[in-house]
Order: sequence, then C-alpha cells, then structure tokens
Amino acid sequence: MPFNLGGPELVLVLVVVLIVFGAGKLPTVFGQLGKGVRTFREEAQNEDVKSVLGSTSTSTTVTSGKFCTSCGKSNADGAKFCASCGTPLAA
Ligand SMILES: [Zn+2]
Repeated sequence: MPFNLGGPELVLVLVVVLIVFGAGKLPTVFGQLGKGVRTFREEAQNEDVKSVLGSTSTSTTVTSGKFCTSCGKSNADGAKFCASCGTPLAA
C-alpha cells in the first residue's frame, strides 16, 4: 500500500495542502470537496427515491372500489362497511 492514512498522516496531508494551495485558497478547496460529497449524496438519494417509487408503484395498484370517507382506505366494490375502521360506506 503506497498510502497508509492514519491520524498523523492526515494531519501531514493537511499541512501539505496548506503549503501547496495556501491558507487563503483552503475554503475553495474544501468547497470543491464538499460539492463532490454533496453530488455523491444527491445521486445516492436519487437512487433511493427511484427504488422507493419502484416498490410503491407496484404495491398501490388498487384503484377501483369504494374509498372510506373516514380513513381513506380502499374497499371492495360490494362492501357496506370499511374493512379497516368499520365506517359505513355510501352506496
Ligand atoms: Zn375506513
């Protein structure tokens, strides 16, 4: 392994970065770093959203039937009472 980054090595790298970029440019360097991390996180979140959307679109396919006015649950077409909360369903 060419680099063994432990605590002291990280400090050394920081010092080298300070010397190379100068203390004044440091915020820019960290800004770029932060930007990279942020885009990486956004992409990871997008992947999460995609997987969530994919799983919900397959599970919420019940569009027919009666919707309970009390809890909003979908019930079978002939149901007189809500299967979830027992509220009488309008005919
Ligand atoms: Zn209900």
